[in-house]
Amino acid sequence: MTPTPEDLAGAVLTIALVALKNNWRRLNALAGKAECGAAVKGNAYGLGIAPVAKSLWEAGCRSFFVARPKEGEELRGLLPEATIYILDGLFAGQAEFYAKLALCPALISIEEAREWAAFGRVYGRKLPCAIHVDTGINRLGFSMPEFEALLADNFTMAGLNVTLLMSHLACADEPSHPLNLRQRAAFAAVRAKLPEVAASLANSSGIFLGGGFVHDLVRPGIALYGGNPTPNVANPMHAVAILEGAVMQLREVAAGDTVGYGATWKATRPTRIAVLGAGYKDGVPRALSSREPGGPAQVFINGRRCPVIGRISMDMMGIDITCLPEDEVKRGTRAELIGRHIGIDEAASWAGTISYELLTRLGSRYARLYTGLESDGRA
Ligand SMILES: *Cc1c(COP(=O)(O)O)cnc(C)c1O
Repeated sequence: MTPTPEDLAGAVLTIALVALKNNWRRLNALAGKAECGAAVKGNAYGLGIAPVAKSLWEAGCRSFFVARPKEGEELRGLLPEATIYILDGLFAGQAEFYAKLALCPALISIEEAREWAAFGRVYGRKLPCAIHVDTGINRLGFSMPEFEALLADNFTMAGLNVTLLMSHLACADEPSHPLNLRQRAAFAAVRAKLPEVAASLANSSGIFLGGGFVHDLVRPGIALYGGNPTPNVANPMHAVAILEGAVMQLREVAAGDTVGYGATWKATRPTRIAVLGAGYKDGVPRALSSREPGGPAQVFINGRRCPVIGRISMDMMGIDITCLPEDEVKRGTRAELIGRHIGIDEAASWAGTISYELLTRLGSRYARLYTGLESDGRA
C-alpha cells in the first residue's frame, strides 16, 4: 500500500478546521452586534493561509487583517470578495498595487495618508482605508496630535474614504493593567473626532475585556488558533494545532546513565525512555530541553503526561515513560507535543516564549494534515 505522508514524516501537525470555525463563531457571539474579523497575518499564525482563510470565510468572517501587502495579494487570490486590511500601512510607492487588489491600508502617518489620497485622485476615486491611531502601545499609528493634523488637512481628508478607525491594545491579556482603561479613553477621544466611522480596538484578549472595548469590529488572531485569550482563567477556545511525534525507539537506562547531547539529564532510577521523531527542525523549541529531572516540559502519550528528558535534538527528543505500563508504548505510537492535552500556552511557557511564537515557528518537515476540509485533507 502507498504510504501516507504521516507514515513517512515522524512528526504530524494536524490542523482542526472545525475547531477553528467554532472558535470564530464563539468570538463572533461574544462580540454581540459588532462584526468579528480575523487576523491572518504570518500565514495565519503559521497554520496555512489558504485552508484557514477559506474556513473562516465559510464560518461567516468577512474582514481580514494581514501585515504585509504581499500577504494581502495571496489572500486576495483566495478570497475575492473579502475586505482585506494591511496592518503595516501603505508601503512607499505601492498605492497602485494596493488599489488593483482592493487592499485597504491601515494608514499610520500623514505621509501615507497624502500618498493614498493623491493616488486616489489619479485613479479617479476615493479609495477605502483605515486610520490607525496609536493610543499608548507606541508602535504603529498616528499620534493624537498627528491625527488632529490630518483632520485639519481638508484636502487630504477629502481624498480619503475612511472605512475604519483603529488602535491596538498593549496589555489586553492583563485585564487589570491600567493601560487598558487609558487606551480605551484615548480611543474614545479619537472616535469623537470621526463619530460616523466604524471603530476597532480589540484583539483576542480585548474581546474579553468587556463591552467598552468591542466597538464595531473586533480583530482576533491567537484565540482563533486556540491560544488562551484569558490567561488567568481556563482557556475558552478549542485547540486547533495538534503536533505529534511518533516513537522511533524504546530503551531502558540504568540509574546514573545520561540521555542526549551534553549528557545533561541523568537517571536517578532505572528509566524507560521513548525517543520521538520530532525535533527543533519540526518546530519543537530547543528550549523545551529538560532543566530538571521531571521537565518542566511534558508530552501526552497513551493518556498520561510524561516528562521530556535531555536536550531536544534536530530530529528527535527523549521522554520518560516509566510511569506507563510496560509494553503499552510501541514503535510508531504517537505522543502529543501540543494539542488538546498540552495547550500551546503551557508548552510555550515551558520554552520561555508565547503561543504566538510557538505557532509561527512550527517547522515544515512534519506532515500537515487538515481535518474538516472538503477534500481528503492533505495539503
Ligand atoms: C496581530 C494583531 C491582532 C490580533 O492579535 P491577537 O492578540 O492575536 O488576537 C489584532 N490587531 C493588530 C493590529 C495586530 O497586529
